[in-house]
Amino acid sequence: MLAATPDFSESPVRVHNGIPRQEGFGYPVVRPERITSPFGPRWKSTEERYDFHRGIDFYGQIGEPIFAVAEGEVFRVYGEGNRVYPNGGNTLIIRHDVVTPFNFHGKAIGKIYSLYLHLDKILVEAGEQVCKGQHVAAMGQSGSTRFTHLHFEIRLGTTCSLEYQRQHSRKVCAAYGFDPHVHPLLFIDGPHQGRIAISHQPGPPYVVTYSASRADLHLNEIATDKGLLNFNTREGIDATSTAAMDDFDFGWVCLRPERFSGRNKLLVYRLEFSEPPAFVQFTDIFGDGLRREFH
Ligand SMILES: [Zn+2]
Repeated sequence: MLAATPDFSESPVRVHNGIPRQEGFGYPVVRPERITSPFGPRWKSTEERYDFHRGIDFYGQIGEPIFAVAEGEVFRVYGEGNRVYPNGGNTLIIRHDVVTPFNFHGKAIGKIYSLYLHLDKILVEAGEQVCKGQHVAAMGQSGSTRFTHLHFEIRLGTTCSLEYQRQHSRKVCAAYGFDPHVHPLLFIDGPHQGRIAISHQPGPPYVVTYSASRADLHLNEIATDKGLLNFNTREGIDATSTAAMDDFDFGWVCLRPERFSGRNKLLVYRLEFSEPPAFVQFTDIFGDGLRREFH
């Protein structure tokens, strides 16, 4: 934690987060600490641009086992070159029943989907029942990626992105009206040390820097008197198209994630404000956070 300086004060906060933490899920990989990209805004090194990453990337070796994160039914299997997930290569989707349904964007969520992309081999078929921890695939480098990893996602209620729903308004999934990908660590858990720090530089531009240890890749919401960004609900974020979602200039703030890889010890976001904020509050997916008041 950075030492407090006289011109701001800090207090821990706890807010209702919307999605209850889900119990009973396991890891999809043997080494879940090997994360190269967290969920949410990032600098996409392989394409030298910012993008909103709607999953988590776990790196490893070709052929490493991939496990079903919970009991469920294989919903879809797509091969390399498929048109539904053209960048995902060999893609596996498993559907799971939610033990205690909850509301998200006003809709009752009774099922969720886990998605596994860039696979080398898929060992199960659509319609098959799988158990939690079952070896269902092998890690690979299929689709558009330059390194061996699993891109893992959790989607709530539907697999259809909001962009797809808008383009196919007569499909059943268009009734959802939200982008279904949420932070996978709500489900598969993982380490949580709460080691985050906030620092700031007086402007202009007024820069607030958020940094978290790589055991704390859980940031969900940035709230200030100027505006609010929620990565799970996409509040404050235009999720109607991928291009809009990948633009981190929100007018009141420019969000600048720094490059992150398997080697970084810290995840760092720079927030460049056009006007100085009165406060900034960072809250994680579990509802824990830190608030800074600026005087
Ligand atoms: Zn990814």
